[in-house]
Amino acid sequence: MGGTPTFPGNNDIDTSIADLKARVRDFVLEREWLPYHHPKELAVSIAIEAAELLEIFQWEEKQPLERLKKDAEIRGRLQDEIADVQIYLLSLAAQTDIDISRAVRCKLARNEERYSVADVLKTGRYRKDRTRPPDAQSEGGA
Ligand SMILES: [Mg+2]
Repeated sequence: MGGTPTFPGNNDIDTSIADLKARVRDFVLEREWLPYHHPKELAVSIAIEAAELLEIFQWEEKQPLERLKKDAEIRGRLQDEIADVQIYLLSLAAQTDIDISRAVRCKLARNEERYSVADVLKTGRYRKDRTRPPDAQSEGGA
């Protein structure tokens, strides 16, 4: 995508979350923006950037994934908004001393308990047909 700088050798494979946190922190410190990066402001900014991410799809028909991935204009916008959300997430985690890797692993472990593979496959939750579990249908539950 035009206007998107590339950094040879820098990608998800060889870049650590700590590297990204440091890069974002340096960017903020150099501009003396740290006083504005209170967790509340960062949480608000994440929500705003997430809304900008949604805006890409607003009023658009749901496209097949492969077509979407080949659309340079949409990919460029997605890249920008994913970066915006991620930058604020990195800054929020840094400001609050939260280790993102640990947080993600802990949350996935809890989700694995909450949504065991056996239960999900048995009940059909989140499957293409969106079949609701029999218990939820009889209880009128969510
Ligand atoms: Mg944005």
